[in-house]
Amino acid sequence: KPVVAIVGRPNVGKSTLFNRLIGARKAIVEDIPGVTRDRIYDNSEWRGREFIVIDTGGIRFDEGDIFASEIKMQAELAIEEADVIIFVVDNKTGITAEDEQVAEMLRRSQKPVIVAANKVEDFSKHISYYEFYQLGLGDPIPVSAMHGMNTDELLDAVVAKFPPQPEKEEEEDRIKIAIVGRPNVGKSSLVNAFLGEKRVIVSDVPGTTRDAIDTPFTYAGRQYTLIDTAGIRRKSRIKDATERYSVIRALRSIDRADVVLIMIDATEGVTEQDKKIAGYVHEQAKANIIVVNKWDLVKKDEHTMNIYDERIREELKFLAYSPILYVSAVTKQRVFKILDIVDFVVEQHNRRITTAELNRVVNEAIMLNPLPGGGGKKVKILYTTQVRTAPPTFVFFANHPEGVHFSYLRYLENVLRKNFGFEGTPIRLLVRQNE
Ligand code: GDP
Repeated sequence: KPVVAIVGRPNVGKSTLFNRLIGARKAIVEDIPGVTRDRIYDNSEWRGREFIVIDTGGIRFDEGDIFASEIKMQAELAIEEADVIIFVVDNKTGITAEDEQVAEMLRRSQKPVIVAANKVEDFSKHISYYEFYQLGLGDPIPVSAMHGMNTDELLDAVVAKFPPQPEKEEEEDRIKIAIVGRPNVGKSSLVNAFLGEKRVIVSDVPGTTRDAIDTPFTYAGRQYTLIDTAGIRRKSRIKDATERYSVIRALRSIDRADVVLIMIDATEGVTEQDKKIAGYVHEQAKANIIVVNKWDLVKKDEHTMNIYDERIREELKFLAYSPILYVSAVTKQRVFKILDIVDFVVEQHNRRITTAELNRVVNEAIMLNPLPGGGGKKVKILYTTQVRTAPPTFVFFANHPEGVHFSYLRYLENVLRKNFGFEGTPIRLLVRQNE
């Protein structure tokens, strides 16, 4: 999916615009406590093209980088990783010196840039936004992010700059694994632990992998592909400057993965960045495993793992279903256990429950904990069916769908998990009108 990055000075309206661009979709997405509030990236769609939008204003950078201003780093990040950049400027204040600096960086980058002249209040009047032509970045598009004015035209311009749609990737049997986590968590060490092992055969299969950046390998007769290994390795070679690009790279990898290894540093615990990435994995409904690395550095007794479990469950509540694995990429402790669990969660992700079994379990659950009535109406779930796998998706047919509340679906999700497991995979529960 193409990545669209929004850059601009503080207060020009980046996050308002961001919310506009993803807004259409928002209503149907479940709310995940702690994740959605200060979201900085999300999927969107315009005229049939799907893409990722990033509000670079929300990305926090290492304090170590005191020489560059925040906005310059955001622009650099966008230049490095985005397919199209929306450069937001403020039509009320006009061009500032900072705008000019950023424009200069963007011009030199040769990336597709759309200038959005924001805070245009009245489209019925003559609008003067023409000074933004001076930025040398093509036709500015006047918008009001706040009132959602002219964002159609903006999106059309953005989508027009997308690279041509790639050919549908050959479906392979290989399980595609993405490894995500903050810089220094040990991603490249883990990759090397996998690939440096004698029992692992790194495949050389020209033509079968579209991306030279992925590494296919075979372990114990099973075939896997590590996604974006080149990116991971390159990044750890040039340690400083490129660190901050990891977020966008992670998003791209997650999109292409069957299973995501969410790596956490045992010595640091779960960070905000970890939460955001994990939230994205969950929302994208990818099978996943929480891999706690550097376990060798932790002083342990018989309680340590439980204490860690509790802490991680608390921090990543929405991943209550994900297995947690404690590993060391350096000593290789439990590193190959990861692949066993990968197989297991992929199986769960693709699992199909028979309709008979499903209805037996759901009916029993409804009997134990009847549906609350909705506004005098008697709400009934008449029938349940699994409509797809990867992720397992269930439809509950009800006489009054609006009467089946979120909390009741939570209950049903717990019931399904208690009975069928689904470890390591999100599941989707939908309610439809009974015909
Ligand atoms: P990346 O940025 O996520 O790819 O992280 P690296 O793989 O480059 O690792 C960052 C640092 O942590 C390096 O110095 C590694 O040697 C170290 N490291 C990675 N995994 C482990 C581990 O399991 N145990 C210990 N003690 N150090 C680790």
